[in-house]
Amino acid sequence: MEQPFDKRDGCIWYDGRLVPWSDATLHVLSHGLHYASCVFEGERAYGGAIFRSTAHSERLRQSAELLDFEIPYSAAEIDAAKHLVLERNGQTDAYVRPVAWRGSEMMGVSAHAQRLKGLRLDLAQYRRPDPATIPAKAKAAGLYMICTISKHQAERKGYADAMMLDWRGLVAECTGANIFFIQNGRIHTPTPDCFLDGITRQTVMELARRRGIEVIERRISPDELKNFSECFITGTAAEVTPVAEIADWRFKPGSISKQLMEDYSAEVQPKAAAA
Ligand code: PMP
Repeated sequence: MEQPFDKRDGCIWYDGRLVPWSDATLHVLSHGLHYASCVFEGERAYGGAIFRSTAHSERLRQSAELLDFEIPYSAAEIDAAKHLVLERNGQTDAYVRPVAWRGSEMMGVSAHAQRLKGLRLDLAQYRRPDPATIPAKAKAAGLYMICTISKHQAERKGYADAMMLDWRGLVAECTGANIFFIQNGRIHTPTPDCFLDGITRQTVMELARRRGIEVIERRISPDELKNFSECFITGTAAEVTPVAEIADWRFKPGSISKQLMEDYSAEVQPKAAAA
């Protein structure tokens, strides 16, 4: 039987040096693995020369830029690395696989900050995709690629996070949390038909209903944001966190947000064992 791909002879160019094939590993806590912040090329060498090597190296660098990270090697350096790898592995006709990913320097797309003052959110450039195009209900790494880009763009502008619309232009969620709005004592939240129906979201809806607060799941258009008085987001990381602004819309963390923050804090505590 053929050896699996991580246990072969030869060497791999890894962060600037050639390492034995089986040493080219990554740690499980790598952003690229969890959030699909990873770009690659597939290239072919014929008679010792990689066909359009520089075009592939440039595309690799551009792909990384589009995912908001920079590969710290020039296209010429990448070309040279590929050439070296072929030579040292004694290959002339081969498939070449450059791959670059965001590492273990940072993890998570969570929204933590000033809590009661309320977060400042931007409007994300990317939209939650049509469920006909992607497994929208899976908490799968590939779905987080656009979340990371959106969160970084927001942070660069001084926001904590970004609110994402969906493929139809309706309000969806944040990059790692669900969103709720309050109007005249009632809670409104988008129907989770193309994004994660968070466990915190379900818990908070239950807590609100227990308090007799009506919770309405429906399609919410961004035009309606001006009508809401309070806004908060929910998620395992964010817990219940009030929102003070989304782009040009303003909200005032109020009594319902505060109540649900408290109720959620109480709910997550282990229940006392029955006597
Ligand atoms: N949406 C997205 C995209 C998320 O990553 C998360 C966090 N897991 C949520 C919503 C909230 O889910 P939960 O309450 O289950 O943590």
